[in-house]
Amino acid sequence: MEIEALMQRLARLEPLDLGHFPTPLASLGRLTETLGGPEIWIKRDDLSGLGGGGNKIRKLRYLAAEALRQESDVIMTTGAQQSNHARQTASTAARLGLPCVLVLGGNPPAGAQGNYLLDRFFDAEVRWAGDRPLMKALLAEAEVLHSEGHRPFVVPYGGSNGLGACGFVEAFVELARQIKARALHFTAVIVASSSGGTQAGLSVGAHALKATTRVIGISIAEKSPTLHRQLADIAAQIQTRLDLDFELGADHFLTIDDYLGGGYGVVSDLERRAIRTLAQTEGLLADPVYTGRALGGLMGLIRKGAFRHDERVLFWHTGGTPSLYAYAEELIA
Ligand SMILES: *Cc1c(COP(=O)(O)O)cnc(C)c1O
Repeated sequence: MEIEALMQRLARLEPLDLGHFPTPLASLGRLTETLGGPEIWIKRDDLSGLGGGGNKIRKLRYLAAEALRQESDVIMTTGAQQSNHARQTASTAARLGLPCVLVLGGNPPAGAQGNYLLDRFFDAEVRWAGDRPLMKALLAEAEVLHSEGHRPFVVPYGGSNGLGACGFVEAFVELARQIKARALHFTAVIVASSSGGTQAGLSVGAHALKATTRVIGISIAEKSPTLHRQLADIAAQIQTRLDLDFELGADHFLTIDDYLGGGYGVVSDLERRAIRTLAQTEGLLADPVYTGRALGGLMGLIRKGAFRHDERVLFWHTGGTPSLYAYAEELIA
């Protein structure tokens, strides 16, 4: 499929003009030299421009458009206490002049730090899930608002349904245009993969444009079989939304689940080393939960010899740096 044809399908969904795109594409010369593997470039979705930036803005352009079409009067979503997605959803609601209710995991922390501090600046109302599963708690709170006469719009966990993931089909188109303009080629894109919308969207975009770039997800929270089921499910929803004539099954996706460590949000030497390496070679920040783990994964793959020296790979920076401050103690350890 041609770029213009794919863009026309995406345009039918009338995404909102939120954030600043295209995000920068830059080479990382000193990191490349330090790691001694393939040539490494970076895609700066941490600079997407709304509410502190990050990958969720791309999904929210499509999701919030649907909220406006439905004339919703409150935007809701869920996530961990340090959710980047919740923070970006809160900033989107503020930008649109709509109230926002966040259902965050666990119980109220003693102080406000990182993303949770920013949620409050964006005037989100936070309700705590306690020990309820997040999506269950979110739907229960939506039901309460509904019974009070509101029309809540429920953004799913991570913004990862087919509509939200269309933002990352568009992101692949954006990359394809940047690559073309600069006569570049990447053999692989490496990206943190958690709720799956980012990787599913990029993979569908790559397949639709018949790109030879492999999209490799470094799993953040789940073993690969579970993540692959999520990715295939989201890809099927994208296919329906965009009326695409192909299907991507669970075995289409490339993920690495060797870097889960102690689980979601548990910081180890892998993340600490990756954050310091990027900071000290390039003066750039990675976050402790997602991009630190994904970069640690890329560094691990390079050490294992997974890439040739003449390859050029792209590290997709998905944002998340506000949580650095909430993890200060674990990061200094
Ligand atoms: C949400 C998030 C991801 C993962 O994206 P998914 O679409 O949920 O897989 C990666 N990095 C950061 C910083 C995030 O906030």
